[in-house]
Amino acid sequence: KKTSSIKTVNPFNNELVKEFLPMTDAQLAAIIDKADAAFQPWKNTTFEKRAKIIHKVAALMRERKEALGKLATLEMGKLLAESIYEVELSANIFDYYADNAAVFLADKPLDVKTGDAFISYEPIGTILSIQPWNFPYYQITRSASANLMAGNTMVLKHASNVPQCAQLMEDLFLEAGLPKGVYTNIFIPGREIKKLVSNPKIKAVTLTGSEPAGASIAGAAGLNVKKATLELGGSDPFIVLEDVDIDLAVKTAVEGRMWNAGQVCVSPKRVIVPESIKEEFLSKVKAFFSTLKVGDPMDKETNVAPLCTEAAAQGVIAQINKAAQQNATIVLGGKRVDRPGAFVEPTIITDITPEMDVYYEEIFGPVFMLYSYKNIDEAITLANATKYGLGSTVFGNDTQEALKVARQIDTGMVYINHVTGIAPELPFGGTKNSGFGREQSPLGIYEFVNEKLIRTT
Ligand code: NAP
Repeated sequence: KKTSSIKTVNPFNNELVKEFLPMTDAQLAAIIDKADAAFQPWKNTTFEKRAKIIHKVAALMRERKEALGKLATLEMGKLLAESIYEVELSANIFDYYADNAAVFLADKPLDVKTGDAFISYEPIGTILSIQPWNFPYYQITRSASANLMAGNTMVLKHASNVPQCAQLMEDLFLEAGLPKGVYTNIFIPGREIKKLVSNPKIKAVTLTGSEPAGASIAGAAGLNVKKATLELGGSDPFIVLEDVDIDLAVKTAVEGRMWNAGQVCVSPKRVIVPESIKEEFLSKVKAFFSTLKVGDPMDKETNVAPLCTEAAAQGVIAQINKAAQQNATIVLGGKRVDRPGAFVEPTIITDITPEMDVYYEEIFGPVFMLYSYKNIDEAITLANATKYGLGSTVFGNDTQEALKVARQIDTGMVYINHVTGIAPELPFGGTKNSGFGREQSPLGIYEFVNEKLIRTT
């Protein structure tokens, strides 16, 4: 029997739960036609009408957060508490844009010498949105909330390992009263999606995921003169300054790193501490690791979940093995957990040098990498010595000192005394090879609108 790549496989035990057939070219074209046909009527609805539907989506998500949470955990393995938190966060983002879109997109008068001029913010049509599995609901929300409130329509391709979450969200939009065609889920393998970018009814494309996927999609968008936004990988630095509460810094960094089993684009992937406290810091990280319980993500006692798929677990192990071969020190972990499922031991790596591949790579798993520095300039150089520029943390007692460091880090986001976080009102996005464009906050709604000048003289 021919198998599809679009399927639910429970990463806790690697058992196949449900398979979905990819859509045919004719089905895909029909969906895009429908999304295009739905655009004008949707564009002509009032903000009040759109807001009512989007608030309803948020309300349905909150009402069903346990069931939605369980489905995300089943499909991609994250801790149930994290899944439920994600559902609540998503509902808050929907509410945020439902409450604020009319204000963000109100005509903006310009200061002109004669006559009047203003910017009218107008939706552009159907957006193709390609999203990853690591936050199955939040990733959809981030993209759909702002764009649907702006009056765009959306065709969304979710990662192949979360088809049920993808389908559920489309059903939920319809149940909330969204007209057919305004938001549609498509089933298509990632490697084939590029062909849809040239469809004239697709007006722009947004992708969150890996750098190769992003480069391929933005390349296709460029060739077709369409706008793209990309939210790609990251290798976030977490710089610890002198004189900090070491226990608190350790707790913040380790919890941040283990969140979603390390599969977060903005997880603190490189922890950079003063040489003078390195040994103490490391021994406290080890002590914290000894309290971590790897296990069933549905179980409240578990704090380290499996990775999203067996292939992901194998990939992380290969990266760790290569680091070891290239003489990095594996202080703890580094192996598969001796049980079924896509588990990797929580791992600590030190003594990483620029000669090693791992110095440059993003590890998407429960791997804590510790670096040290002699002076702050060295820490900043190290923090910036990556092609990525997504999030970052400066951890310090002296806020002025931390702010000085924050200004010198080449990332889209810097958090002081906190891992890079997520909130509806704060922009999310990166620089360098982490991509371009912003989601959430007022900024997120301006990405796919025509900022049209209207001038009277
Ligand atoms: P991925 O392979 O790039 O998958 C992401 C999405 O892109 C999926 O829907 C996938 O579909 C699709 N895709 C795969 N290959 C493609 C291609 N050649 N052309 C177009 N689409 C393609 O990413 P991943 O490795 O699963 O996800 C982890 C990466 O995403 C990490 O690098 C992480 O840092 C990044 N990420 C970034 C953010 C952010 O906000 N910056 C957030 C979350 C994750 P299939 O599943 O069908 O292959």
